Amino acid sequence: MHQDMKVWKQVFQELIREVKPWHTWKLTLDKSLLPNILKPGWAQYQQWTFARFQCSSCSRSWASAQVQVLFHMHWSEGESRGQVKMRVFAQRCQKCSQPSFEVPKFTEENISRILNNLVLRILKKCYREGFTLVEIPMIKEISLEGPHDSDNCEACLQGFCVQTASLPTSWSPRANTNVQAERRDQNCFNDCTFYSHTAQHTRSLGVSCCCLILIIIIVIVVKTTI
Ligand SMILES: [Zn+2]
Ligand SMILES: [Zn+2]
Repeated sequence: MHQDMKVWKQVFQELIREVKPWHTWKLTLDKSLLPNILKPGWAQYQQWTFARFQCSSCSRSWASAQVQVLFHMHWSEGESRGQVKMRVFAQRCQKCSQPSFEVPKFTEENISRILNNLVLRILKKCYREGFTLVEIPMIKEISLEGPHDSDNCEACLQGFCVQTASLPTSWSPRANTNVQAERRDQNCFNDCTFYSHTAQHTRSLGVSCCCLILIIIIVIVVKTTI
């Protein structure tokens, strides 16, 4: 990861300089970073991407399309300084008896795509720039088959993997998960709002029907007594 970190930092600096040439931003690795636990004023960006792993015991290598990269970012207006903390979740070898967690290897193309998405989030969340966010999709080198190995995924074991989240079973994680998740939330919101309107409408219709029947019964009773 140390060698890789140089690439991450370098690409991040190139991208942020293109959009904010006068502002200082720093990207650092933080292995203690936790999803959804944010200090006040910090924003989060989570990306599930494709990467490769190699076991340090048996040298076996494998690929995964559910490698979580987590970023927390903060912009300090007064100091003109920005900070990004990053954590990459590890995986362990399936074949070894006591495997250690291995850090993934990303292609430079995917590093660049992840960081492009990150910079877009920074512009939107830290600088409040108004534009429609379109996620750049990740590239899978190979098509992967078989289920995600949750027993050997650090994010799964800590309860932060997309597999452990309560998502519909038909949902399959892709590179642009966040956008899809947001859209799904929005759809759910719309559906829920629509549902409650419909329910209210049905309820009020039922009450009107009851009143009408009651009036008819009263009229009949009154007529028959006269
Ligand atoms: Zn191994
Ligand atoms: Zn997992």
